Amino acid sequence: MPLTGTTNEQKIWNYLIAKGLSPCGAAGLMGNIQAESGFSSTNLQNTYEKKLGYTDATYTAAVDNGSYTNFIHDGAGYGLCQWTFWSLKQALLAYAKSAGRSVGDLEMQLDYLLESLAGYKGLLDLLKTTDTVKAASDAVLLNYERPADQGETAKAKRAGFGQAIYDKYAKKQEGSANKMPSYTNSPLVTVTMLSPNRSSPRNHALDTITIHCFVGQVTAKRGCEVFLPTSRQASCNYVVGKDGDIGLCTEEKDRSWCTSSSENDNRAVTIEVASDTVEPYAVTDKAYAALLNLVTDICRRNGIKKLVWSTNKNERMKHLNGCNMTVHRDYANKSCPGTYLYERHGAIAAEVNKRLGASGGSTPAGKDTLYRVRKTWADAGSQIGAYTLLDNAKRSADAHPGYSVFDENGKAIYPVAAFSPYTVRISIRDLYIRSGPGKGYASRGFISPGIYTIVEESPGTGSSTGWGKLKSGAGWVSLDYCTRV
Ligand SMILES: [Zn+2]
Repeated sequence: MPLTGTTNEQKIWNYLIAKGLSPCGAAGLMGNIQAESGFSSTNLQNTYEKKLGYTDATYTAAVDNGSYTNFIHDGAGYGLCQWTFWSLKQALLAYAKSAGRSVGDLEMQLDYLLESLAGYKGLLDLLKTTDTVKAASDAVLLNYERPADQGETAKAKRAGFGQAIYDKYAKKQEGSANKMPSYTNSPLVTVTMLSPNRSSPRNHALDTITIHCFVGQVTAKRGCEVFLPTSRQASCNYVVGKDGDIGLCTEEKDRSWCTSSSENDNRAVTIEVASDTVEPYAVTDKAYAALLNLVTDICRRNGIKKLVWSTNKNERMKHLNGCNMTVHRDYANKSCPGTYLYERHGAIAAEVNKRLGASGGSTPAGKDTLYRVRKTWADAGSQIGAYTLLDNAKRSADAHPGYSVFDENGKAIYPVAAFSPYTVRISIRDLYIRSGPGKGYASRGFISPGIYTIVEESPGTGSSTGWGKLKSGAGWVSLDYCTRV
């Protein structure tokens, strides 16, 4: 059944999406198929048509009816992926026979393709989860298709095909379940009044809470109204009113303009809470109770399992040690969220975590981090001080040769030992190179398995070991997948 390219293109897209590939994964795979066969499942490698004296159709028919017997060993590329190697053609033919289909049948070839992809460790998983077409396209080219030409031009050509397919089929669905996670808004909202002051959609997964003081005892409705004029150039995601009502000002899928930091607002839900207009910018009991309900709901719906607060600005701004609560005063010369709410951040985290059923972490919520100055962590008796301010701890260590500053986990953080580069082995084929130390940085494709030199480290968050900078300058890799050699 000869099918035209366009028809097959749509069918292949539908098939791959139905099989659970992400839109970028499907598009990246399809860019390769397009380069190989132009989506024709009966495509016989052009140079072999003359050599063998067949067309796509007569070759397919001759294989099907058994009059041509050298299908497996003739070395001719065939089908969607131009399968060439004898073992692959043998498997394809056997697959067609067992399915009772023509060797050129589109759906049979897709079934065969998916099954054979599963044999490449990590590749199918990548195609189901990736959010970049280039990563998917390169992975298929390097691991599965392995054409003679694997240069940058060939990669770019295939990724270009894939991007066009993505633009055609997936773009219109962007912002829904595909490219970005699907976002919802809080069911606790009592008034919705969307501000035009926003960036849509947010460009980072929602993983942070930023609580502000409104500086005015307003209702949620009045609070939202303030952000309606475009001249205001500001907004927030939610307003908690003095009576405990909750206003939706910017949907969670979008970035609000609230914290004087694009980076922060792209990953945070920002909440303005009605407050007094003077220090300590106190909020009503009703507003505080509603805030706890709202934050708990936001965490639940967005998979934030635990809130982590830190009284250390550096930890907050760099999201160190799992810290996922930030404050406006870190990004601008403001007292926001005001003394009243700032001092309650630890208590807010503790209460929300109790409701979420989260266990306490290494930095108990609401408690100051202490920097201890000792000879060694084990030698608690040598402690000459414990400080809430790291600078003070450093000063103390400087004044006492042989002493170091330890964090809550007993990790020596000052003075920092000179870093010496080391080598690691990377064995997996689907480890991303990132432009910076974290998953949030752009991917630069996969690193080939082999031995590499790490010249700099960056701490990880949560259970992550951290990130290592490659000596080549190519970027950073997760040390979770590196073994020291
Ligand atoms: Zn603020």
